[in-house]
Parts: sequence; C-alpha cells; structure tokens
Amino acid sequence: MKNKLTVGFTTSFPVEVVFAAGHKPIDLNNIFISGNAAAAVHQAELKGFPRTICAWIKGNYTAARKAGIDEVIGIVQGDCANSQSLLGILKDESFPIYHFSFPLERDQQSLDDEISRLERHYGVTREDSERVKLRLDKIRRKLLILDELTWQEGRVNGQENHYWLVSASDFWGDPDRFEAELDAFLIQAEQRPKRDSYFRLAYLGVPPIYSNLYQTLSKLGADVVFNEVQRQFAMLSLKPDLLSQYLVYTYPYSVFERLEDILPELEKRRVQAVISYTQSFCHMQIDNMILKKKIGLPFLTLEGDQPEEIDSRTLLRLESFMEVHG
Ligand code: SF4
Repeated sequence: MKNKLTVGFTTSFPVEVVFAAGHKPIDLNNIFISGNAAAAVHQAELKGFPRTICAWIKGNYTAARKAGIDEVIGIVQGDCANSQSLLGILKDESFPIYHFSFPLERDQQSLDDEISRLERHYGVTREDSERVKLRLDKIRRKLLILDELTWQEGRVNGQENHYWLVSASDFWGDPDRFEAELDAFLIQAEQRPKRDSYFRLAYLGVPPIYSNLYQTLSKLGADVVFNEVQRQFAMLSLKPDLLSQYLVYTYPYSVFERLEDILPELEKRRVQAVISYTQSFCHMQIDNMILKKKIGLPFLTLEGDQPEEIDSRTLLRLESFMEVHG
C-alpha cells in the first residue's frame, strides 16, 4: 500500500483524522463541480446510472474513477441514502471503501464511537486528530473573517464566500497551499470599498449545480450574505474539540437542527429574502417544505437538475421574485 493515500469522500466528515494519518482527503463533490461536470454526469449515465438519480451522485462516481482516488469514504448516514449504493458500485469496481455514519440523533457517545472507529481504521489517536484540528482551526479563523467581510461589509461577494467555504471541506487536500492563497485573497478583499446597497439574500441547501447562480443574482441587484450549508462544511463553529465540532455541525441531522442555525443567522445578517435550493431527486426537497413554513421571509425555492447555466424559466422566476421583493 502507498504511504500517502488520496482519500475521496462524499460529504464533510471528520477530515482531521485522514490528515492526521498523513493522507490527502479530497471532497469528490468539489472535484466533480470544478471539472467538466456535464461530461461527468453523462459518463455515469453511460455506465448505467439512471436519469432519475441526483446528478451529484453521478458526478461523485465519475470523480472517484478519474481523480486517482485510492480509497473512498462514504457518509452513509447523515447525508444521502444514495451514497450507500454508490459505495456498492465503487466496491464492485475494486475501490477500497469505508462507511462513516453520523448518528441519527445528535448523540455524543455514538458520534465519539464512530470517530474512534475511523481513527482505528487510519491508525491514529484522538490526540493526533486534535492536533490537526488546531492546525485547521487556524485557517477556519481566517474563513470566519472572510465570512464577516461578506455579511458585515460586503467586501467579499456571495460567490466568493461560497467558493472559499465549500473548498474548506477538504482544504484542497493541502492546508498550507489553501492558507497561503486565502491569505492573499483576504489582503486584496480587505482593501476593497464597503458595499451595502444590494438586496440581502440567504442561500439555503446544498451547493447549487448551476454554474452562474451567484452572478445572476448579482445582475439582479442582490447578493448572498449567508451560505448555509457551505458555512457548515467549513466548520466555523470553532469548538474546543473534535467531538463538539461535529456535534454542532447541522448538515447530518434533521431540518430542525438546521433551523436552529438558520433562524438566528437570518436575523443577525439582516437577510431580506431566502433562496432555498433543492436538487432534483433529492430527499431534502421534503425538508424544504418545513423550511418554507418556519422561515418568515420572502422565500423562493429553486430546483436544479443538470450542471448548466440557469435556464430561462428559472431566470424568469428569479426576475419576478426580485421585482416583487427586491
Ligand atoms: S443533493 Fe441530495 S440526493 Fe444529491 S447527493 Fe446530495 S443529499 Fe444526495
């Protein structure tokens, strides 16, 4: 076995453990969406993936096969029911796979046991993982500044906020390079003038599969000051230890845990309206019904399917929404 493995994963999990073992964790979603995403979906469909399965699953499949991945960690509870079957396909293609499960409820002991099992798999101790957490938290503090520059001062726009936060799920597998580029970005962003004359939006849900959503919102005079799930992936809670950090991480749990995070952030960030993104064929479309019911702000649900630019119908809906509320 190689000393340093490239470990692909399907959604955020305690990535500190993989770094502690000296391996390179890579978020398959980031590989998929930053490459030729439409071709990746097409290739998976040619292999037999049904049209009626979420495009992110098909993208993750192709990314795992193309990105020189040595092992795949699938988050099979606390993410997506499809991940279990995706792992089955990858196992059948001889990938070493590992199943990680967030507990159904936010249960401290169960999560602790699951992280310990992961640590045993990679031959590291909790102290090793906590040391990596300290290192990554130094970068996360800088991402917190970036997030504040977004919602407090408008010096960082919603698209940039999305990009940096979502990239922090794996720090590009290279935290030192990530931090150096983030430092350079922050120096430049801090010198920009303040912006405050735009309509303030929240973006809820998994990252958009549209390639130009943020640019489109900007053309309509709006910007996103709260990227909900991206901010969760970046783990900006800065809790003192690994277990607490992954207990407050809302994404693996129910929509009610998400709301505990969302509602105060909407108020704090003076959000004027909500864009709630759902992916075609995703169970989170059901959660969206509760979000809509519990959030007392203008609320627009967008449904994306294939990786592409925003289609004319969605554009029309955005324009109408902005005309009424913007
Ligand atoms: S968008 Fe939904 S269906 Fe698609 S991978 Fe994510 S959780 Fe699964």
